[in-house]
Amino acid sequence: MPKFNVAIIGAGLSGLAFGIGLQKYAPDIDFEIYEAATQLSEIGAGVGIQQRTWTIMQAIGIEEDLLKITEHGEDCSYPIVQRKSDQAEGVEVHRIQNMERNYSFHRAELQKVYLAKLRPRQVHVGKRLASYTQPEDGTGPIELQFEDGTTATCDFLFGCDGVRSRVRAVMYSQLAERAEAAGKAEEAAELRALIPPLFSGGVVHRCLIRKETLPAEAVGHPAFNHPGIVLYGGKNMHLITYPISSGRILNVGAGISFPGKEGVPYEGPWTRPVGREEIVKYFKGWESDVQEVFKYVDGGILWAIHVTGKLPTYIDGRVALVGDAAHAMMHHLGSGSGQCYEDAWMLAQFLGHANITKENATIALRVYDEIRRPFAQRVAGLSIRAAELHHFNGPELAWLTPELSATGAAMTDEQLKGIGEATERIRAWRDHSSLLEENAAAMRRMDEALAAAA
Ligand SMILES: Cc1cc2nc3c(=O)[nH]c(=O)nc-3n(C[C@H](O)[C@H](O)[C@H](O)COP(=O)(O)OP(=O)(O)OC[C@H]3O[C@@H](n4cnc5c(N)ncnc54)[C@H](O)[C@@H]3O)c2cc1C
Repeated sequence: MPKFNVAIIGAGLSGLAFGIGLQKYAPDIDFEIYEAATQLSEIGAGVGIQQRTWTIMQAIGIEEDLLKITEHGEDCSYPIVQRKSDQAEGVEVHRIQNMERNYSFHRAELQKVYLAKLRPRQVHVGKRLASYTQPEDGTGPIELQFEDGTTATCDFLFGCDGVRSRVRAVMYSQLAERAEAAGKAEEAAELRALIPPLFSGGVVHRCLIRKETLPAEAVGHPAFNHPGIVLYGGKNMHLITYPISSGRILNVGAGISFPGKEGVPYEGPWTRPVGREEIVKYFKGWESDVQEVFKYVDGGILWAIHVTGKLPTYIDGRVALVGDAAHAMMHHLGSGSGQCYEDAWMLAQFLGHANITKENATIALRVYDEIRRPFAQRVAGLSIRAAELHHFNGPELAWLTPELSATGAAMTDEQLKGIGEATERIRAWRDHSSLLEENAAAMRRMDEALAAAA
């Protein structure tokens, strides 16, 4: 008999990784995944996985499958080549050397690998959650209502439904209603403000170049040659390139920030196809290596980057938020999905704890919130700092206008070096920390919480 059953809303990277984790660590818990899309295909592009996250891939048993979809073998410690490129002749700023591993994948290929690890009947597609009802007394099943009019029940509910999370919307509406009922109108307004995603002030154009389509003269280009990331930066903009799909495709991201637009509602669709000209117009006057990359770009998809506000809780009773639903962040640090996996891994192990029962499993959710929320919110803060550094912004470069930057003479070598080193420093937590040690500490915290409640 299963101990209890779990519903996972969303079959993105968080939901699938959580399912794989439950299969491994909590085989006595039943779970179902409900996904809004009718089929799991995706227009997305590159996603990086670094050493810290790789630890999880090894632990949940999918390292081998992932190695089959990357050209990188065991050793993939390629530096990030960082340049200042918004000038006629670009300069190398820094080589970030401290990466032990830095794999890159096509998101759709990752999703496929994860999906293959799950039993097909566990993933229900075409099921968009509309709402849920959680009995107030903490007992009885949670009822899920789907947009197609059907319902389902579960003992515990996990919202892995991305930055526009419906689970977050229902949870925070209910938290706000309770605050109102307690006469706390201001708190209720603050809770409601956390329901919609916030515009980050930046967009990114994600493009793919098939290497087989490149003419011979393009082959020597640093972006097409380097097995890792090349980061071409400039005031308010960057271009990032790295190979995906076992080196067959070059992932190209062209990011633009619009200072002062952070938090201002974004007009227009959050993702839409764009033609080459719409992207290239921003990069006039940039160094020739950048112009060369654009020669082979047909177009791409524009993403208006939205983030999740700083939530005061990821849980309410037997419901929890996981991944982007809890902490969608800026893409500049390449850590968004890593933080999703860390949530999923911790939750799966906590729920699989030998002493967890249906009656005490809310303790697992509480400890998850206690540990994961501050951590993920710190990383989200670092991702904002990464965006500043990639775009030559932030307090130390407030004086640098696009015009001054384009002269190529406004910053000293010392200042450029400072930006490069700062960019390296904000990645250090990820490349030099031990997730295994942190995980062991989290499990000890879980033991203590269960012992205290016994
Ligand atoms: C431009 C860009 C570049 C990035 N690069 C990196 C990188 O290099 N490295 C990295 O680690 N991270 C990166 N990220 C972040 C990473 O892609 C995300 O953090 C991660 O994909 C989020 O996964 P998720 O499963 O939480 O959410 P999502 O991927 O958004 O998945 C949510 C799923 O829930 C489904 N869903 C939504 N609503 C409902 C509903 N009501 N009912 C049922 N299902 C629903 C959706 O259809 C979707 O399948 C990047 C992000 C962007 C935008």
